[in-house]
Amino acid sequence: MQSLQHKAAELLGSNRASVVIGYAEGSDGRVRPHFARTNDDAKALVWDQRCKQNLAVYLTKHEIKEMGPAAIIASPAVVRTIVQMASEQQFVRSFPITLVVDNDQVTELNDGPSLEAFATSHPVLFPSHVTKEVEDLAAMSVADRFAFWQEEFSRCFKCYACRSACPLCYCTKCITESNQPQWVTVAPHALGNFEWHLNRAMHLAGRCIQCGSCTLACPAGIPIALLTIEASNIVQREFGYQPGIKADAPAALSSFRVEDKEAFIR
Ligand code: SF4
Ligand code: SF4
Repeated sequence: MQSLQHKAAELLGSNRASVVIGYAEGSDGRVRPHFARTNDDAKALVWDQRCKQNLAVYLTKHEIKEMGPAAIIASPAVVRTIVQMASEQQFVRSFPITLVVDNDQVTELNDGPSLEAFATSHPVLFPSHVTKEVEDLAAMSVADRFAFWQEEFSRCFKCYACRSACPLCYCTKCITESNQPQWVTVAPHALGNFEWHLNRAMHLAGRCIQCGSCTLACPAGIPIALLTIEASNIVQREFGYQPGIKADAPAALSSFRVEDKEAFIR
């Protein structure tokens, strides 16, 4: 922990970073996001198994951008997110200073090749129950899968915590808030919930880096990441595109090749 705090203080002291995004102790033994801007702030940084939410969600917030250059303490999921954001042109001048911690050793990843190399050597590792849930859902008949999601979505009350927790839901205006025209029914009833979740899944298909933060954030206990994880799995199968691995890869669902099989593209 000390080397992380020293590294953060060094980055802030040398003005290489104006803010270091990490975690600090919260209440009830939990951790909370922490935005270190001074030497004293840096001393509060912690990094352990409790730090699960994807902090890259803050990198696209204007409040953070306005602070100046940012550094971020990164899990493998955060590194994948940064690579994916780069492929979507979210970093205009340079990458955030990305700090990965291993056995109290801190390594800086500051450019595309080092981030890509780290992302490639740290594949997605779900807890075994998540892997099984993804496989079980994929093996279901369409009718059973529909019934599963109907049941899960019946508890959704459209708080949008899943959207807020997702680092790749960074649009400043979401389709759910559009009312001219009204694309998505506002009410959290069966139709409104299906419209919302299918829209979100389609917008994240081939972009979800499978961090699981949306599921962790859901107060209704809906395993919502299963939907976007499977959508990304399908895109990978069909188009050979894995999000969060190549910083200059064209996005699978917003680019095309003339040899693509669908005739309408030509
Ligand atoms: S966090 Fe859960 S309850 Fe809230 S909108 Fe998302 S799925 Fe629905
Ligand atoms: S949709 Fe994917 S990238 Fe977004 S929070 Fe959920 S698991 Fe992470």
